[in-house]
Amino acid sequence: SPKTVVITGCSSGIGLALAVKLAKDQLKRFKVIATMRDLGKKKQLEDAARETLDNMLEIKELDVCSEDSICKCVNSIPGQKVDILVSNAGMGLIGPVECQSLDTMKMVFDTNFFGLTRLVKEILPDMKRRQKGHIVVMSSVMGIHGLLFNDVYAASKFAVEGFCESLAIQALKFNINISLIEPGPVITEFEAKLYEEAAKMDLSSTDEETAKMFRQLYLPYSKKVFHTLGQTAEDVAEHTVKVITAEKPPFRYQTNSLYTPLTTLKFADPTGNLHLDTYYKMIFQHDRIFNASLSLIKFLRGRSGNQPGRKHS
Ligand code: NAD
Repeated sequence: SPKTVVITGCSSGIGLALAVKLAKDQLKRFKVIATMRDLGKKKQLEDAARETLDNMLEIKELDVCSEDSICKCVNSIPGQKVDILVSNAGMGLIGPVECQSLDTMKMVFDTNFFGLTRLVKEILPDMKRRQKGHIVVMSSVMGIHGLLFNDVYAASKFAVEGFCESLAIQALKFNINISLIEPGPVITEFEAKLYEEAAKMDLSSTDEETAKMFRQLYLPYSKKVFHTLGQTAEDVAEHTVKVITAEKPPFRYQTNSLYTPLTTLKFADPTGNLHLDTYYKMIFQHDRIFNASLSLIKFLRGRSGNQPGRKHS
């Protein structure tokens, strides 16, 4: 019988693309419970998955910031049986830390980190009883390394990674797998929301140099990175399906192979300086180095005819 998959944050982006892909699985291996905080936003998913509605796909309300909401959703599932949990809901935050309120920072952690812990607290005990299950978590390459002006977001994904890395050992004893999906940039509403917030951000509580660095250097750099190296939500969903269906699911899985050399720097030098120096040069001397690397990527891509992140397919 099909496996019950609960996915959070399905009103847009990767969650939506994954819900559609799993619900349309040719072999009908999945019964998808696509959840979202606000059911008023379900139309896009309904339109994309129409023929699977009430058959392989059900849409339910779930706010990862509310234990009650999670409990209500899980209790509505027959036998409260969840075979695969995909913790996908999340939010970004960019900009100088001195311009961000602690409330906003807490909201990022409440969504990205405590959202996952609330789901795990609700769903893991039953998986343990059944000695079966898979918890798939949408992390990021920023769960492995930090990035300029992404301080709090990266910290929230580091928290996610530390939590999962610790829990995965216990989970294995119960035959439960945990997998971290680590995309690089993905072109979704996530990116649009970030730029929208950045445009509104009051930069008066930082110095002029930092404000200039954020607006005139980081933002154009980030947009360039998204549009040159960015994957589509469908591409990331396709990689996630591979992780879900793998016989021995990997603990970590990067969806964009172009990022692997950068993430490897972190492990290659235990002092951390190699990683810092490389990113410093990439950002502050990016006109020379970044453009040179982009030309190289374009050249390599032209030769192989490959999309970024296709290495695993
Ligand atoms: P997105 O903004 O399209 O999707 C995020 C979803 O989470 C939205 O539908 C949003 O409504 C939902 N959400 C936010 N708070 C919620 C809450 N309290 N309860 C339930 N749902 C909530 O962006 P996306 O790119 O599809 O992001 C999905 C995941 O991928 C996130 O965890 C994000 O951190 C991660 N990610 C994104 C990128 C990227 O560049 N877009 C890169 C790496 C990782």
